[in-house]
Amino acid sequence: MTRREEILREMGLTPIWRMRRRSGFTIQRSGVTVQESENTLNPVAHSWVELKSKVTACTVCRLHSGRTQTVFGVGDEHASWLFIGEGPGAEEDRRGEPFVGQAGKLLDNMLAAIDLKRGRDVYIANAVKCRPPGNRNPEKDEMAACRPFLDRQIELISPRLIVLLGRIAVQALLNTEVALARLRGRVHDYRGIPVVVTYHPAYLLRNLPDKAKAWADLCFARKTMQGLQVRG
Ligand code: URA
Repeated sequence: MTRREEILREMGLTPIWRMRRRSGFTIQRSGVTVQESENTLNPVAHSWVELKSKVTACTVCRLHSGRTQTVFGVGDEHASWLFIGEGPGAEEDRRGEPFVGQAGKLLDNMLAAIDLKRGRDVYIANAVKCRPPGNRNPEKDEMAACRPFLDRQIELISPRLIVLLGRIAVQALLNTEVALARLRGRVHDYRGIPVVVTYHPAYLLRNLPDKAKAWADLCFARKTMQGLQVRG
């Protein structure tokens, strides 16, 4: 074991990642060796700067070929609140920022309804960083390819609460096919971080009556956050 490996082990920063073949890395977890894909991220090595440049250069899934640019995320990099949507649309692809189209306007209003503001203790990200063509939903393998980026983003932000916007974000983060309606009003868990779910703003633009449910979800999210703050 090298000195560096010893130090990392002391600090609890293992597993250590090694290049094995050109196409991948191996990870040793509890003595089990697992082959990981090329964009699997070394949790120790990737700072914000490194992560952003990895995302910008990513060509792992087919979505890269249709993008104008990647859409990394926006906001306070140490925010308490993290909102996660599905993937960039046309406007986001053009401007490089999530939720800047019609759905984004509604999201900003949803944030304002619970006294939040984009960029002020709030971070906004997407399950996939490249625009799916024709605004289709991202495929499972595309979400899986982007997942290490999202995982690392969450790790770096270390939010107190995550709000998932819509079914695709729920599938991407919670790995469940259970209908969103059945997941609302409860606190879920992502690696020890509380997660609540609500409808996607684009869905709400098409289904106005469900805005009342989204409002209830936001109140639930706010109450959940207040509970976390009381506990410290
Ligand atoms: N819908 C999303 O899920 N994300 C965006 O960034 C824009 C629209």
